[in-house]
Amino acid sequence: MRIEIVNTGTELLLGHTLNTHGAWLGAEVFKLGQRVARQTCVPDGVAIREVLMEALGRADAVLVTGGLGPTSDDLTREITAEVLGLELVQDATALASLEAFFAIRQRPMASDNLKQVLIPRGAQVLPNANGTAPGVYVAANLAGRPHAAIFLLPGPPRELYPMFLEQVVPRLRSLGGAAEPPELLELKFVGIGESDFHQALDARLAAIPGLEFGYCARIGEVDLRLIGGSAAIQQARALALECFAPQFVSDDGSSLEQTVVRLLGARGWTLATAESCTGGLIANRITNIAGASAVFTHGFVTYSNEAKSGLLGVTAQALASHGAVSEPVARQMAEAALVVSGADLAVAVTGIAGPSGGTADKPVGTAWIAVAQLGEETHAWRVFQPRNRQDFKLGVSQAALDALRRCL
Ligand code: AMP
Ligand code: MG
Repeated sequence: MRIEIVNTGTELLLGHTLNTHGAWLGAEVFKLGQRVARQTCVPDGVAIREVLMEALGRADAVLVTGGLGPTSDDLTREITAEVLGLELVQDATALASLEAFFAIRQRPMASDNLKQVLIPRGAQVLPNANGTAPGVYVAANLAGRPHAAIFLLPGPPRELYPMFLEQVVPRLRSLGGAAEPPELLELKFVGIGESDFHQALDARLAAIPGLEFGYCARIGEVDLRLIGGSAAIQQARALALECFAPQFVSDDGSSLEQTVVRLLGARGWTLATAESCTGGLIANRITNIAGASAVFTHGFVTYSNEAKSGLLGVTAQALASHGAVSEPVARQMAEAALVVSGADLAVAVTGIAGPSGGTADKPVGTAWIAVAQLGEETHAWRVFQPRNRQDFKLGVSQAALDALRRCL
């Protein structure tokens, strides 16, 4: 079945509101064993006419969101009726619900709201328990010529989501038959680039019959998306792990920090962090995970030299002769964090986020990371991530968390 989405709203195209409906509906439609073939976004007003006319001839079902409100730029209902050549008629049940909606809230109803209960003749009302605008379902070919089934759905997410799940899903199921959704597996890897992946795996994955695959690269992270039958997915998973076992983080959607917290818990270990350039981002990511209190003890944010020496006892000699961004300082920070906290494992980062402050031998993007572990030699290494400040912080936190993951 070919399903298309039309999102309406000028705010979506101005960038004032993120169009989350496309993503949400795409994931829900996938669960039904179907795919969204196309998503179009148009401003409020008459722009919907053209895309609706195109989509109606091309698709089996069109999901339209937004533009069901009472104001003059909410024209979805009117233009759908016009495109189909169907008269708009007042729906008595929808009118009763609308009146009840205002009565319960002890608010007078504006006459403009009445246009919300006009629906194309022969269409079905989709009741809206969470707002004033009922949805509309126009069965395929209702207008007496071939056209897609149409669902007109409200813009506010708290109205759209329940209406879709309760009223659209059953109708899509009966339109499309009870298709089994294909399996989808997402493998997360850290510490390799998308191109390494591509080079090592592309041809071999492409040779697996019935497999659809793709990559999604983020900072310091690549997801491999596998869709298909169970056997094809397992074959692809084995291939990917054969090439990149050390970089493999999860295949159940767990993030890097979730994995680190889980591994710490499994060992019964605790963690402390000593952060300069990341400003607490590593501690933040760890403490975003439920259960962090069992494994995380201290997070030092030692941004200035004074903080590094005052809280962690970094020596004046190390700071003077090597600088704050150096191997000796990273080592001292990690080892002091371990001792002061009494944790089993500590990670320290110190770096130059920029845009200023770089030198020829320590350019912007340079960072030193150290991992100290009770009874083991401290490891320290340099990373180079010349990016904007936010991405640099994310990249360095990613490298530090990945080092903890490997250590665990
Ligand atoms: P509307 O019924 O089109 O006026 O939409 C009402 C509200 O729903 C808007 O103010 C947005 O906040 C929200 N909304 C509408 N469309 C979307 C969308 N595609 N993604 C996220 N929010 C949306
Ligand atoms: Mg709107």
